[in-house]
Order: sequence, then structure tokens, then C-alpha cells
Amino acid sequence: VINEGDYSDLLKKRQKNVGRNLSIGYKDNLKIVKGALQYLYDDKGRTFVDCVNNPSHVGHCHPVVVRSMQKQIATLNTNTRYLNDTILKYAEKLTATLPSELSVCYFVNSGSEANDLAIRMSRHFTKQKDIIVLDHAYHGTSTVAMEMSPYKFDSKGGSGKMPWIHKAINPDLYRGPFKYGDENAGEKYAADVQRIIEDLDKEGKAPAVFICETLLGVGGQIPLPKDYLKTVYNHVRKAGGVCIADEVQVGFGRVGDAFWGFELQDAVPDIIVLGKPIGNGHPLAAVIVTNEIADSFNNGLEYFNTFGGNPVSMAAGLAVLEVIQEEEMQEHAKVVGNYLMNGLRGLMQKYPIISDVRGHGLFIGAEMVKDRTTMEPAIPEIDIVVEKMKEYGYLLSTDGPLHNVLKIKPPMPFNKHNADEMVAFLDVILNELKIIN
Ligand code: PMP
Repeated sequence: VINEGDYSDLLKKRQKNVGRNLSIGYKDNLKIVKGALQYLYDDKGRTFVDCVNNPSHVGHCHPVVVRSMQKQIATLNTNTRYLNDTILKYAEKLTATLPSELSVCYFVNSGSEANDLAIRMSRHFTKQKDIIVLDHAYHGTSTVAMEMSPYKFDSKGGSGKMPWIHKAINPDLYRGPFKYGDENAGEKYAADVQRIIEDLDKEGKAPAVFICETLLGVGGQIPLPKDYLKTVYNHVRKAGGVCIADEVQVGFGRVGDAFWGFELQDAVPDIIVLGKPIGNGHPLAAVIVTNEIADSFNNGLEYFNTFGGNPVSMAAGLAVLEVIQEEEMQEHAKVVGNYLMNGLRGLMQKYPIISDVRGHGLFIGAEMVKDRTTMEPAIPEIDIVVEKMKEYGYLLSTDGPLHNVLKIKPPMPFNKHNADEMVAFLDVILNELKIIN
């Protein structure tokens, strides 16, 4: 048994001087002091496999990213009102990963800020205000991003739905009305967006924006059904709206079969929003738009951002792209992700508490229920599993509207050995749970 130590002094200080509505990941607090690739180390010298920190995309403190940032910060860090090569090199390299339509980059400092800007540009472009979002979605913490995040505005302390926000149902093939095996489920879910568009039309309005993640994160680790995005984008464009893909969690090769989540759907958005993995944990985010949208936004009012596009952030972004390519991380995510999902599906055969395993590459969810017929969420069982996995050195967490989806989004160096261990430890824990139940 490991002595968990006494962190009451640290907790008191945190409560006094740091924003108070901030949760802590585990019942027994963890004080992490060092990170290296997919591993985290605590103050007691314990090693943990990090299975959830997707911002540390190419690995915690990846030496190539660290060196590149160190070199740049020792040379120059300033705003974008001077000519500078790094931003241009990065914008070129980043847009080279995208369809040619998406060619103009705006660099900002967080996913929330990026979503905020994307909405402002879309409203300017369409001269409309209304936004269609997916139920349970999260798009950030700024005022506008909160307004378009049912995960926030619908929950305790939230300010409720604004009249210009419209929620479409989650295209969830496990829990939603259209299930796995329904070949037309994507189009059927897309019809809910069309319904909202028709309701708006009756009021003489049209949508400014449809926004969703290209694989739903907070919504429950849900891959989109075939043809969903293509069909929705068609509906929205016919009504004059702009289609935004929030790739903050999904992008940069994590899904394995593609570099971007929208590519899995054979659809091209008008705007993509990038964050988290883009700077490997350094505060960097981006909005990338079509020429047409960029031209319309350039209406005489300057858009300046003090930190956005600074050379250190650009050096971080460049290094991340280089590492993904050099270390063939997209292919690795595909191979290891499929391997891990196979392992988890093996557990699903053995333990009815795991009722669905889904994902793409290293973006995986395992839904846990008390009963496969009623689909009652396995709470507190899932929280027990997460706590016990921590004792075995594996850091996991939960997600989804019912908090019953095991979330697996590790730094990309996560390997087959880690996958084998994770499955083996889960096996032990689930077996114990079965006995207790
Ligand atoms: N969009 C999505 C899909 C996210 O998951 C998040 C953060 N969890 C954001 C936007 C906001 O990003 P940030 O926390 O960098 O502001």
C-alpha cells in the first residue's frame, strides 16, 4: 500500500489563491512533477501511463518540441506586427495538410478563443446570428463558446440555452434512436439539423453556423455515422450557413485513418478550429478558413492578437508537425488504436458491464452499463475502475452525458505494451467488481 501523503496544505493554498471552481482528477490527490512522452511521474517517484492527456500529443516534453521552443525563445519572441519567417513557414506547412480550400490561418491562444473567432467570422460572413450545435457538446469557456456548449449551459450553474442556439440530437449509434446496423442512420440523424433549419425558416431566419466535433469528445467519444457530416453540411450550405469543424480534440493524426477527423466523413468544412495537440500543450490554437471567408472578414476592422502567432508558438507548432511525420505517428495511432480496441472488445465479451467499445485510432471510448438492456450507467462502478487503474499506474477518466464512458486519448507514443497492460489490469479489476456485485 502506498502512503498517499498529506496534501492538505497544498489544497488550502489552492483554495485560497487559485480559482475555486476547478476540480481535481482523483480522490487521492496526485502531484505530478515530471512528464516524458506517454509517462507522468509523481512526487513519490511513481510512474503513470497517461491515457487521457491529448494536448501532449507527440508526448510530454518531447525533446524535438522542447529544443525548438528553447531555441526560438532564446532568439526572439514578439507579436506579429513585424515580418517573420516562422509564422509563414508554419502556415504553409499546416495548410499543406488540408484541402486547398482551407488556406488562411488565424493563430490564437486557446480552443475557446478560436471557436469564438470562428463564430464571429461566420456571423459576419452570413449576416445571421443563429447557431446549430450538437446536444452535450463542449466548445470552450469564453462567453460565446459557453453559449454554444450544452455540456455547460445545461448543467448545474449554467445559464441555460440562449434563443439563438439550437440543439440537434447527438448522432449516437449506441444510445440514440438510430442504432448500429442502420445503414441510413447518418442521414436520419442529419434530418434533425434540417428540421432546425426549417423551423428557423418559418421565423424568417437562417443559420449562421453549424458546428460540431468530427468525433464527439465530451458528447461521449462517439464516431460520427457514415455520411452524417456530408449530409448535414449540404443542408446547412443550402440554407446559406457556414460549416465549422471543431478539430480541437480530434485532429493531427490521432484518428489513424486520416490526419483530420472530417476526412473520415468525406466532407470539407468551411472553417476548422484547432487547439490542444497543435502546440503539444503550449497555448496555441488556430482558425483556418476559406479565401472567401477571410476576404469578407477583412472589412477594414483590424484583427490583432497580442500573443497569437508569436514565433515561439509557431516553433512549437512546426516541431509538432515534424515529429508527427518523422515518427509516423498517424500510422502508429491506427495500429495501436485498433490493437487496443480489439483488447477492449475481448473484455466486452467477458464482462457485460462493458457494453460498447468505439473510436478511431487513439480516440477511444468504452461505455459501461449496469445492464445491457436498460443501459443504466455503471455508476459508481466506472469511477471505481478509474481509481483502481490509477493504483495500477494507468491514468484514465470518464466522459459522456451520463459520465459512464471510459475515455482513452493518450499521448500518441502510447504503445502496444501499454495497451496490453491496460487491458490486463482492467481484466483484474472487472473480475473483482463482478465478485463484489
Ligand atoms: N473545443 C473542444 C472540442 C474542446 O474539447 C475544448 C477543450 N476541452 C475546447 C474547444 C476549448 O479549448 P480550450 O480549453 O483550449 O479553450
